[in-house]
Amino acid sequence: MTRARVFSGVKPTGNLTLGNYLGALRRWAEVDQHRADALFCVVDLHALTVDHDPGRVRRLSRQAATLLLAAGLDPELCTVFVQSHVDEHARLSYLLECVATDGEMRRMIQYKEKAPRERARGGSVRLSLLTYPVLMAADILAYGTDEVPVGEDQTQHVELSRDVAVRFNQRYGHTFVVPRATAPAVAARVMNLQDPASKMGKSDDSGPGIVYLLDEPEVVRKKVMRAVTDSGQDVVYDREGRPGIANLLEILAACEGGDPEELSRGYDSYGALKKDTAEAVVEVLRPLQARHRELCADPSYVDGVLREGARRAREMARPRVDAAYRAIGL
Ligand code: ADP
Repeated sequence: MTRARVFSGVKPTGNLTLGNYLGALRRWAEVDQHRADALFCVVDLHALTVDHDPGRVRRLSRQAATLLLAAGLDPELCTVFVQSHVDEHARLSYLLECVATDGEMRRMIQYKEKAPRERARGGSVRLSLLTYPVLMAADILAYGTDEVPVGEDQTQHVELSRDVAVRFNQRYGHTFVVPRATAPAVAARVMNLQDPASKMGKSDDSGPGIVYLLDEPEVVRKKVMRAVTDSGQDVVYDREGRPGIANLLEILAACEGGDPEELSRGYDSYGALKKDTAEAVVEVLRPLQARHRELCADPSYVDGVLREGARRAREMARPRVDAAYRAIGL
C-alpha cells in the first residue's frame, strides 16, 4: 500500500507558539513524518498578506524553519522547505483563483476577523488577505495531499481546498487529490492565557498570554502562573463554563499525555494545576530549545536542508501543476 501524502505549514508572521507546537508541529514530528510521505513548509508568501517588514519576514522564516527541525522534523524522513523557494505554489494559485469565487473568500472566518483589524490599524486591506486561502489550497493541492494535519483554526481553509479540488476536477478532468484536515485529539485550539476566549496566535502581539517556543523556563512559569482563570475553586474540565481552566488542563494533557477530564480529578486547587502545567510545558520545550541552539550554531546545515527540501518539493509539485495548466486550457 502506498503511504498517505501529508502536507502542512506554518506562517512566519511572529515567533512560534505553544499553540503551533501542540496543535501542529509535535504531531508532524512524532507521528506524521514516520507514517506518511510528508512535506512541511514555512509558508512565507502568506506572511505578506498583512503589513510586514521585509527583513523581519526573512528572519522569522529562517527561525521557523530552524524550529521545525528543532521540534524533531528529520530531513531523512520528510521534506522541509520554504514556500517561496518553489514557484509552483504561486503558479497554481492563479489557476485556482479562476475556480474559487469571491463569495467563498469573503465567507472565511479568518478574513472576517483580520480585515477589520487591518482597517482599524488605519491601513487598507491587502487583496492577498482575501485570496490567501486560494494560495493555501495551491500549497496543499500541488502535492496530491491526502491529509493536512492542522489545528482547529485551519479546518475551514482545508474545506475550501477540498471544494476547489472537486470543482476543478469536475470541470477540467481529474487532476487533484481531494484532501482532508486532521486535528489533534487534545489541544486542537490552545487559547491565550490572558484571554481564554481567543486563540493563542503568534501574530497577536499580546505577549503575556502567549507561550513562545523560545521562552526561557522562568518566563514560561510566570506566564502560566498568571493565566487568567475564573473565581471558582474546584478544578473541572468545562470548555464553555471554565475556559481558562479547561485550557490549562488541555495543555497539561497534551504535554504529559492523558485526558483533560481525568487529569482534572487529581487537582483540588488552581495553583497546583498551574504549577504542574508550567513544569510540563518547560519540560516539553527543554529539548526543543537545546536542539535550536545547536542548529543556530550550524547555519550551513539548515541552508542545506532547505535547499534539498525545495529541490524535492519542486520535483513533486511540477508534474501536477503542469497537468493543471494543460487541463484548464493553457
Ligand atoms: P498562527 O495562528 O500562530 O499564525 P499558523 O497559521 O502559522 O498559526 O499555523 C500553523 C499551525 O499551527 C496550523 O496548523 C494551525 O492550525 C496551528 N495553530 C496555530 N495556533 C494554534 C493554537 N492556538 N492551537 C492549536 N493549533 C494552532
